[in-house]
Amino acid sequence: MIYLNGEYMPIEEARIPVLDRGFIFGDGVYEFVPVFERVPFRLHEHFARLERSLAAVKIPNPFSEATFAAVIDKLVAAHPSANQGVYFHITRGVAPRDHSFPKGLTPTVFVMANPLTLPTQKQVDEGLAVAVREDIRWLRCDIKSTSLLGHCMLRTEATGEGCAEVVLVRDGFLTEASSSNVLVVKDGVVLCPPKDHLILPGISYDVILELLAVHRIAHEVRPVREAELRGAEEVWITSSTKDVLAITRMDGKPVGDGRPGPLFRRMRTLFSALKTPPEKPAHRGSPEHD
Ligand code: PMP
Repeated sequence: MIYLNGEYMPIEEARIPVLDRGFIFGDGVYEFVPVFERVPFRLHEHFARLERSLAAVKIPNPFSEATFAAVIDKLVAAHPSANQGVYFHITRGVAPRDHSFPKGLTPTVFVMANPLTLPTQKQVDEGLAVAVREDIRWLRCDIKSTSLLGHCMLRTEATGEGCAEVVLVRDGFLTEASSSNVLVVKDGVVLCPPKDHLILPGISYDVILELLAVHRIAHEVRPVREAELRGAEEVWITSSTKDVLAITRMDGKPVGDGRPGPLFRRMRTLFSALKTPPEKPAHRGSPEHD
């Protein structure tokens, strides 16, 4: 079952007119909400990011936070998997082909839930191999645009070389990866590229920043030079489907000693603990606790 413009239906019945600006121009934005054990993770933060993407391209937000949550609940309940990823795709709507944004369109809203593919134990234990490429994407990577051709070209090149992801550098500085943020450990300090127009502000990136601050782990938010990336002790990749994973090979060369590092292992444990709701305290039944 999917959601299209206010109705729930089987995906086979969903139809979108060919003049939809999402089809013609990639004129739309999307959001992806991970759901663990049927509970959406950081729902408010995902809604806020969708709102920022829509505002940046001047598409009115068709959702309140309550309806956004209600659509997730309904799609997740209809699906057998406990862990799911819910995609929201919102385009400007249907109009005669014209580069300028037409006024007064009704956005097209499509939402689907898919089973979530979580990292394998091998990926956690051994890390990922990535390729490093020049970032050829546009200069508004902070908008979660549905126009992902640059991402797709880069990722396809990397997977063709047997790599799981492609890490991007622009003008000698690390930006991010095709569908993840990238952090680097250099001289024991976690280096985090700033959330500017060159990267997507990842919800998992923010989780890592919070954990670094709470656990007083040395870190700096600042531009990261390509040389620091290539000479790092550890490189981490973060996203809603990965939490945090280690990159252990870049362009065929080992990162550090080629094994996931100690700071990564600590961070992964801390991240996983956040997603597991604390056990309810057992009811003790004695009068002073009633
Ligand atoms: N950068 C890009 C380009 C992405 O597509 C994603 C995945 N949404 C991320 C970073 C990571 O964001 P998040 O942690 O919210 O999944």
